[in-house]
Amino acid sequence: MNKIEIDGLHFIKYIDQKEIGQIVRRLAADIKREYVGSRPIVLIILKGSIHFASQLLLEAQLDSELVFIKINSYDGLDTSGKINIELDIAQNIENRDILIIEDIVDTGTTLHQYEMTLRDRKPKSIKICTLLMKPSKLQYSIDVAFCGLEIEDKFVIGYGLDYNEHGRNLADIYQLKQE
Ligand code: 5GP
Repeated sequence: MNKIEIDGLHFIKYIDQKEIGQIVRRLAADIKREYVGSRPIVLIILKGSIHFASQLLLEAQLDSELVFIKINSYDGLDTSGKINIELDIAQNIENRDILIIEDIVDTGTTLHQYEMTLRDRKPKSIKICTLLMKPSKLQYSIDVAFCGLEIEDKFVIGYGLDYNEHGRNLADIYQLKQE
């Protein structure tokens, strides 16, 4: 399936599942190396990171503690500029290594603002792993330790990423086609 239509918008295939698999394996090897001798708390940002996090952590065979968090900043095709933390980590993170798993970094608003709330809780380290990143959209200087792929400024869906709750089930990643 090279093209799909959701609510009147057209998307074309952009990154196929084979390439996603290669990216995830590379990131998993990097993460495994990074956390030798440590048992990090892995914060998985719902819902878009679900497939990525699951594949990444299985591949990395990382001994870690998993926590799901939910932060919203996107509204349809655009970022709202404000974050809403719907589900946060409750436990003490003082002196712990924290690895945040995100699906895509766009303006960086979500991670910039959320990271500040974590820093107040004095973890030993905070590192970010994202599958995708749109460098041309970045508005904050956030330190992304592990980045799968830098992409152009186009809206994408699939492999967990949605458009109005459609498309999360797609194994490949699709890009919005400009009409
Ligand atoms: P930021 O705060 O960096 O601007 O946006 C991050 C969040 O916006 C991501 O976690 C994701 O939920 C959403 N987002 C950003 N770009 C895209 C995109 O191209 N497609 C989808 N489906 N969501 C996106």
